[in-house]
Order: sequence, then structure tokens, then C-alpha cells
Amino acid sequence: MARRDRYSLAPIRGNYTYSVEEVAELYGIASETVFRWIRDEGLKRLPGSKKFYIHSSDMRRFLERKNKRNKKPCSDGEIYCCKCRVPRRPSMNAVQAENLPNGTIRVKAKCGVCGTGQFKVVSGKNWSESHPLYPDRNGPTIEHSGANGWPRNCQT
Ligand SMILES: [Zn+2]
Repeated sequence: MARRDRYSLAPIRGNYTYSVEEVAELYGIASETVFRWIRDEGLKRLPGSKKFYIHSSDMRRFLERKNKRNKKPCSDGEIYCCKCRVPRRPSMNAVQAENLPNGTIRVKAKCGVCGTGQFKVVSGKNWSESHPLYPDRNGPTIEHSGANGWPRNCQT
């Protein structure tokens, strides 16, 4: 099962004691993962029972901390690379931008470090943050150069 980068706190009930199995079911993960959280990652379990129980407030605290740790925001010009598992600057000669009918822009690129394809859909108004190389999506810099759809100055 793929490692999750973020766990929503929304499904956790206000004041409730979860079994390991219930937590696993809540997030669609293996019970073994929950055991590992308890064993290795500091998820608190309620004392005094052979079976492991976790209180919702401890779940909440644990996942909040976990989410924070996993959060690696993209800086300007970066796109998350699924292989490196961190935001990377794309290779500048392999960026493709496409205006979609709904006003968003699809950016295709290649990770500047490992070469894996990156993919991101950004809103037009976030465009300059997403790709400072092309500060204005309506400007001449992202006019597509032909059949292959590459922005003109990406080819230099
Ligand atoms: Zn990469």
C-alpha cells in the first residue's frame, strides 16, 4: 500500500476509543501500520488492556504531528516529484504548459534531478508562482511552438 503523505482528521470522532482495527479501517490502511505507529512512532495507546485501544484525542494529536512532518510545500517553480518524494525544480528544457478550457493550466515537466515526469494543474492566477520562468501565461513566453506543444523558449 502506498505511503500516505497526509491523513485527514475529519473522520476522527470527538470522544471515542478506537481499536487498532477501527483505525485501520478508518484510513484504509493495514492494521500493521497502526501497530507500527504505536510501536515506533509514538502513537499513544490506552493502558491496561491486552488489546490496543487508541483514544480519539491521541489519534488527532499524532496525525496532526505526522501531517506536519510530511508536509513539504513546493517553493516557487517547483513541482512535486513522485520518485524523489520531494518538490523539485523541473528541468528547464522539458517544461510543457497547456491552457485548459476551464482556465487552468496543465504543466508537464521532468524532474531536474531524476528525470521522472512531473505533472501539475495550476490555476491561471497561481501561474507565476508555479513557474516563474513564465511570469505571464498570456505573454509571448508560453506561446506554443507547434505540433509538439512545447513552449517556445523551453527549447533553447
Ligand atoms: Zn525526481
